Amino acid sequence: MRRNFCRILFLGAGLLTTFLAYSSYAAKSSDSSPITVVIDAGHGGYDRGGIPGQRVSEKDMTLDVAQRLKSVLAASGYRVVMTRDSDIFVPLGTRSAIANSNRNAIFVSIHFNSATRGGASGIETYFYSRDSLALASAIHHYVVGGAPSGSRGVRRRGYYVLRRTNMPAVLVECGFLTNPTEAAYAQNASYRQKLAEAIAAGVGRRNSVGSSFSTTRVATAESIPLQPYVDQTRVTKSKKSRSKRSAKKSTRKKKKTSSKPADMETRVASSDREG
Ligand SMILES: [Zn+2]
Repeated sequence: MRRNFCRILFLGAGLLTTFLAYSSYAAKSSDSSPITVVIDAGHGGYDRGGIPGQRVSEKDMTLDVAQRLKSVLAASGYRVVMTRDSDIFVPLGTRSAIANSNRNAIFVSIHFNSATRGGASGIETYFYSRDSLALASAIHHYVVGGAPSGSRGVRRRGYYVLRRTNMPAVLVECGFLTNPTEAAYAQNASYRQKLAEAIAAGVGRRNSVGSSFSTTRVATAESIPLQPYVDQTRVTKSKKSRSKRSAKKSTRKKKKTSSKPADMETRVASSDREG
């Protein structure tokens, strides 16, 4: 009897170890409560997004994809929270606060890219915390797979909404609105639907991302490759355009608290993306 009890105890401990090894790598979804997906439509209101003079308004495209994503995810049983659901301006601090008020959540920010060079094209997916890499890899895999645009890779960068959200958080740049071909795609409703479905597929398969480190992981039927990524967290600090902007207020020592209005950050970052 006692021996059996010990065996069960060992078996239980073994299972627990396997479970912990798995869940520590997988996105934090071990809670029993349903996953909440916080969808963040970039820009809004007076903040059109993109670069000055850009013909296609980024804020309209991001909202439309976000609303489509909301429908797709809700239909799959996810709880969905939108940081904005209309053409209004929402400060970045409010966006991350909305996200952080949810337990067991993941955060997906939708953007479109812009560059002064019209030829710039492709999909980029950003993350900041290591916890977010699997989600970024999965979303990037599906969005690139369903888009005619090329991949500009998964990138690590300290965007405000990625730094200030306490959950796996990803920002997808769904192509360049300054590129005539990609802008034409973005303006097509069925293409935006396809983007939303691809992002939703990435959300759904975020725990299926394979890694060379996860030898204890249970093999899945369709493993998504972990994307190699470019770490831009240091590059950002030394970018000329950025240091020029922050020089006035000498923010070099303040790593976390930029003196620049938080709401401007995404716009500034996206406008200096293409050198
Ligand atoms: Zn944007």
